[in-house]
Amino acid sequence: MNEFNLAQTTTWLEHVADVLEKNKGYLNDLDAPIGDSDHGENMARGFLAVKAKLASPAADIGALFKSVGMTLISTVGGASGPLYGTLFLQAGAKASGKEALSAADWTECLEAGLAGIIQRGKAEPGDKTMVDALKPALEALRSASGEPFGDALQASADAARSGMEATIPLEARKGRASYLGERSINHQDPGATSTWLILQALSDTMKS
Ligand code: ADP
Ligand code: MG
Repeated sequence: MNEFNLAQTTTWLEHVADVLEKNKGYLNDLDAPIGDSDHGENMARGFLAVKAKLASPAADIGALFKSVGMTLISTVGGASGPLYGTLFLQAGAKASGKEALSAADWTECLEAGLAGIIQRGKAEPGDKTMVDALKPALEALRSASGEPFGDALQASADAARSGMEATIPLEARKGRASYLGERSINHQDPGATSTWLILQALSDTMKS
């Protein structure tokens, strides 16, 4: 595999909806001590709406990502909806007119998506947010650029997981968890966790 096409991208997004539904309780539980226990609910609701949209075919991956972004923004009330929505809108702009994405294309998509999240949410690395999973995932993708695409996607998901684990000792500086100050320490960030699940689902989809 050296690229993924529109059909595979659709399969990935369906898989994400299933994974988030399955992990709804887990993500809510992570959000309980440092937030308002709704991150699983928010993500599952958003991607259920995305799944419904997948029934009508998109013209290309760019159009598909843009539709995902708009759906997340309009169906998720929490902070995570507009942020993930921005990621997909920005990725969609990069994938505009494309029926398949190479490793370089996907890297550009993720790069633009992360930049959009940072611009919108103003989080810096180390603030205990989804940025702490996304940034290492992007960096791993870049460093694996000479490797088979499937390996690069798994390296990217692994880096997201490490970034997610590294949020545990951090004090939150953005979002609801930041209201807790030092009491946010010793908890894993829910948004970094959903980022890992989404990227692991991508790797799993492209393996099968
Ligand atoms: P809410 O906090 O509104 O209840 P969610 O619970 O769905 O929304 O999402 C919380 C997650 O959103 C956090 O775990 C964090 O990863 C992410 N988040 C919150 N604020 C920001 C921000 N400013 N920048 C990046 N990510 C953020
Ligand atoms: Mg919440």
